[in-house]
Amino acid sequence: MSVVMKFGGSSVADADCMRQVATLVERALPEAPLVVLSAMGKTTDALFRAARAAVAGQLELARREAQSVAARHLDAARGLFDGQPPEELEAALAQRFDELDRIFQGLALLGELSPRSMDAIAARGELLSTTLFAAYFRARSPASAWFDAREVVRTDSSHGAAQPRAELLRALVRSKLAPLLGPGRAVVTQGYIGADESGATTTLGRGGSDWSASLFGAALGVREVQIWTDVEGVYTADPRLAARAEPIAELSFAEAAELAAFGAKVLHPATIQPAVEADIPVTVRHTLRPAGRFTTIRGASRGARAVTAIAMRGPVHVLTVTSSRMLAQAGFLARLFEVFRERGVSVDLVATAEVSVSLTVEADAPLDELVAAITPFARCDVARERAIVAVVGERLRDTPGVSAAALTALASFHVEMLSMGANEINLSVVLERSAAPAALAALHARFFESAS
Ligand code: ADP
Ligand code: ASP
Ligand code: MG
Repeated sequence: MSVVMKFGGSSVADADCMRQVATLVERALPEAPLVVLSAMGKTTDALFRAARAAVAGQLELARREAQSVAARHLDAARGLFDGQPPEELEAALAQRFDELDRIFQGLALLGELSPRSMDAIAARGELLSTTLFAAYFRARSPASAWFDAREVVRTDSSHGAAQPRAELLRALVRSKLAPLLGPGRAVVTQGYIGADESGATTTLGRGGSDWSASLFGAALGVREVQIWTDVEGVYTADPRLAARAEPIAELSFAEAAELAAFGAKVLHPATIQPAVEADIPVTVRHTLRPAGRFTTIRGASRGARAVTAIAMRGPVHVLTVTSSRMLAQAGFLARLFEVFRERGVSVDLVATAEVSVSLTVEADAPLDELVAAITPFARCDVARERAIVAVVGERLRDTPGVSAAALTALASFHVEMLSMGANEINLSVVLERSAAPAALAALHARFFESAS
């Protein structure tokens, strides 16, 4: 039984971090680890900026961005090999940077950047980080190998947000990747990237390496999927927003999925599903503090608290649909939701009142189109720049008084919407986006920082 070890961008940000990753992987060698890496920190953003600059005709700007990416990788290569990286590695990196430069020239010339080209560019971050790390690691463990994730991560062709083809992916992982794994060696591959049927490179969406890790883990049936990052697990809230947030020792799959869906960036929202299906625990750990605390996510949580954690997501838009005859009319809600379904827009939260229903949609939803479709049968008001703050806990449903406590904590805030999630483990409020961080802090103080 193998183990998947996924390291995020900050965990492979420079030579020192990569050495630490190598130490952790080395310790896990008896367990036949599959190592899934993100791009070196900030690389993906830089590649996006460079591509956009190139297509806007700002080739010099694009080149500067590309040079900073190249410098980061070359610095790390020198740091890892005491100033003298192997020639093949330098040549491999140089070749990838030359290709990138040619791509940017092409973009500047054509003035066109398709999602397909963007994916081919973005994927280079992971291809580079794994090339570099694998070269270094193989110097310590020659039996270890680099593997191109695109050989097995089969997706559809929705570039930028590709959906894995689960059955094919599983079969490919088992036939092409599994035989390479074994005790005493590590296989190093990329998160975030895949390929469609025609072989074109795709990406799973920003932050998608976590998802890759759990897809690999589920297909391989590993003992554990480890997400190594820059925090000691999933905290009671984003520690950047609540200074007194603490790591949670155990979370249920449902809680973790809910937190991720409602903005806890530490896990990509799709990470949990493959793990649930294969019933594989996911742990979240700090790369630089491997002996510190961490979170284990599995079937059931043993936590005793009603509220497990709080998350925040925004911006979202709120649509409030009003019709005086609304609730009297059979089929009104069905007709309303049809408007969203037809356009493939997912609705996050819903709250109904006597004559109105409010719902939230993502910031990139086609608002004008939605309003135009609803207006013939009901009034539709739109509030932009809102955010959702979600209080999550497996025991919310059987703990009375949580909504009252939440609303009391938010007494000085203008709460525009309150909604209990369909699975009853999520109590969400919607507020002005600018007020959301303070609201999250107030809720955190109420549920996690009081003396009781
Ligand atoms: P990586 O590059 O390793 O994938 P990310 O930046 O994607 O790391 O995710 C880690 C970050 O997630 C943390 O630094 C933290 O600021 C943020 N975060 C948001 N919500 C939470 C939470 N509930 N617990 C822990 N971290 C969180
Ligand atoms: N490198 C990709 C990103 O920055 C994927 C990831 O880090 O998970 O979005
Ligand atoms: Mg991440």
